Amino acid sequence: MRKGEFSKIRHQLGKTQTQMAQLLGTSVKAVQSFEQGWRRIPAHVERQTLFLLAHQLPRNKKHGRCWVALECQADTKKDCPAWEFKVGHLCWFINGTICQGEVQPTWQKKMRICRKCEVFHSMFPVLYD
Ligand code: SF4
Repeated sequence: MRKGEFSKIRHQLGKTQTQMAQLLGTSVKAVQSFEQGWRRIPAHVERQTLFLLAHQLPRNKKHGRCWVALECQADTKKDCPAWEFKVGHLCWFINGTICQGEVQPTWQKKMRICRKCEVFHSMFPVLYD
C-alpha cells in the first residue's frame, strides 16, 4: 500500500484510529505505525482496508463485471476466479485472477498490475485524487 493511502482511506471511511483498529482486528498502536510509516502495511491489512472502502464508494456498474470492462475472451474467463464466482467488482481482492494473461504468484505482484488497471481505478477513484 502506498504511503499515505491508509490514512486517506481511514478518513474516507470516517473512522477514528481506535475504530479502524477494531475493524482490522489490530491495535491502535499498529494503526498509528501504519499511518506514520513506521511499520509496513501487511497484505491482509491492505486487502481488508480496500475491501471496506469498496463497499462504501458508489460502484461503477460496468466495472462491476471486470470481464466486460476488459473484454475478456471466453477461454480466459473460464479459468478466472472472478468470473467463476461472479465477483467482478472484487476481482482485485481475489488471488488467482488472470489479468494480463497470467496468474500472479503473490498479492504484491497482482496489486502492481491492479493499480494500473482501469477496473481498480474505477473502484477506487479516491486513491487517485
Ligand atoms: S488487473 Fe486487477 S483490477 Fe484489473 S481486472 Fe484484473 S484483478 Fe481486476
